[in-house]
Amino acid sequence: MAREAVSLFALGVWFNETSAMIAENPAHRPMPFKRRWRALTRKLRELGSIAWALADTGHPYMAHIIPMRRCNLSCTYCNEFDDVSDPVPIAEMERRIDELGRMGTSVITISGGEPLLHPELDRVIARIRRTGAIAGMITNGYLLMPDRIERLNRAGLDHMQISIDNVNPDAVSKKSLKVLDAKLKMLAEHADFHVNINSVVGGGIANPTDALRVSERALALGFSSTIGIIHDGSGQLKPLGDAERAVWDKVRRLTRRSYSRFNHFQEAIANGQPNHWRCRAGARYLYICEFGLVHYCSQQRGYPGIPIAQYGRADVQREFLTEKGCAPNCTISCVHQVSYIDHWRAPQTSQVTPGGAHGAGAGADAGLVQLR
Ligand code: SF4
Ligand code: SF4
Repeated sequence: MAREAVSLFALGVWFNETSAMIAENPAHRPMPFKRRWRALTRKLRELGSIAWALADTGHPYMAHIIPMRRCNLSCTYCNEFDDVSDPVPIAEMERRIDELGRMGTSVITISGGEPLLHPELDRVIARIRRTGAIAGMITNGYLLMPDRIERLNRAGLDHMQISIDNVNPDAVSKKSLKVLDAKLKMLAEHADFHVNINSVVGGGIANPTDALRVSERALALGFSSTIGIIHDGSGQLKPLGDAERAVWDKVRRLTRRSYSRFNHFQEAIANGQPNHWRCRAGARYLYICEFGLVHYCSQQRGYPGIPIAQYGRADVQREFLTEKGCAPNCTISCVHQVSYIDHWRAPQTSQVTPGGAHGAGAGADAGLVQLR
């Protein structure tokens, strides 16, 4: 089983990187040496991190950290932004990143809100790299410009993900191909880091075929592409309808080199079926909010709700073995993928965890939000 876990996860990463390298120049222009070198060294670092994750279960593999809750957009399905909050001061961000480094976190991804609104984002990225971690970022892309992309190159960004929800902006989302295409061209020209474009189907998305156009455009520009399923603004997840299902199948065939091909979790979600898996949130995956608290994930904020400075190996080991009652209908694919490293070992035997607004309670399970 261990060998299966290694090969599937490593292949996922390898295909993800390789697809980007192969497709990077659809016009068969030679890829700049610098970009090729960075892709190669990134891949080696990723493979090393997976080997270490297999050898030691006492450290987080991935953390999402929030430097900025504010966003310049207001997608109606999103519960992860506000339009008022200030950036987390850089000294505090650096302290939190160092704490993640102390715990041995392999991949640190900046999320939000909109991270590009943070005035010192380059320093945040550079600090992540100083810990030895792989640096990622999730952005809506609106604020990208050539000089900003060059600054991200210099800071050492490894991965960027942009989610594009539709072709034309509508009342649900302005993350639209029509608006963002110019930004994608800038990235194709200037970015030395890996770029993944995520398209979506599901709740609130008016034209399912938009996902296909988004993926085709992403691949044509030399990026990798994935497709996700979103729930609607009330948190409800429904099986895909016929039209959505047809698009879902087409995009997955189109993006067959991407790691999403290995994600059988998403297949069950598309069919409206529960998944049987061991969520390792709080252990292999951490979500660090703007207040510096560790949470299971973006949808289960409050559990365990412990400040990152106090979070340690004992917490990781407890959460590694804690069953999450929200797992069957979970749609959070990055936690699925991270948890897959350990899917073959360590059955979860505990249901007790700190919980409540700031980790003051006990027995979180009853309070976890259930997606249906
Ligand atoms: S751009 Fe992202 S963070 Fe901002 S509202 Fe939309 S989904 Fe939420
Ligand atoms: S929603 Fe529940 S199962 Fe999904 S990642 Fe969060 S804690 Fe884990």
